[in-house]
Amino acid sequence: MEPFFRDRIGIEFGGPSPIFTRTRLIPVYPISRRVDQCNFSKDVIWASTRESVVAEAASPSGLKDESYEFVLASHVLEHLANPLRALMEWKRILRLGGAVLVVVPHKAGTFDHRRPFSTFSHIEEDYRRNVTEADLTHLPEVLELHDLALDPGAGMMEQFRERCLMNASVRAMHHHVFSPDLLVHMFDYAGMDVLNVAVERPYHIIVLAQTLSPTVDRTQTKNPNILKADAEWRKKAPFLCEPNQTMPCSHLSFDDLFSSGRCLSQ
Ligand SMILES: [Zn+2]
Repeated sequence: MEPFFRDRIGIEFGGPSPIFTRTRLIPVYPISRRVDQCNFSKDVIWASTRESVVAEAASPSGLKDESYEFVLASHVLEHLANPLRALMEWKRILRLGGAVLVVVPHKAGTFDHRRPFSTFSHIEEDYRRNVTEADLTHLPEVLELHDLALDPGAGMMEQFRERCLMNASVRAMHHHVFSPDLLVHMFDYAGMDVLNVAVERPYHIIVLAQTLSPTVDRTQTKNPNILKADAEWRKKAPFLCEPNQTMPCSHLSFDDLFSSGRCLSQ
């Protein structure tokens, strides 16, 4: 994936992120020419001294069309009420052939492990309804199924509930729960070609996608191959939780997930 980033200019939403530094999993920062930073507020606790833009990740209307060569977003998409709109916008600001690299949590490794995977039809519906970042549709599910024992920073249930109710200003809540397959469907809908998928411990789903010319025959994209049951990335994944499995991961204990290495026994 290096050619998409080496000596190129990109923008990161919700960063900067340790995962993109020299000694970590995806060292994009040291090889790129510049990575601007975009956050929804200038007061975020993870603020950086890099060149910064203040805008919503799902509606960065101040950013010009085709102004970047790559987009990064690590553990951001799950915090967005309208993630498909974000992908559409990230595609808009990318030059043709530019790359989007997203990292989202795999629920098997996080406090979301009891929650069901979000469905593509729901994500599409959020997009069609033009859902805003003030949306709290998923609050009841989050309050019922969030595993507070795995989220020490969230405090007790009442503190957690209060934080969720203030989500429009703190953006800590995970609106949706992504599977790798769901992400591929979203990129496909957004008109991007998924080049690679990886699932890495402790909880990362990593997807690299590329913008395509509108004239490209959509039936010729790589996306159907990426979604095949015998795709290479599935064989390497430390845990798999298919959206259509009959027994949700939540029926397994957290220890089970890690001791077995997979949510699916077959
Ligand atoms: Zn939603």
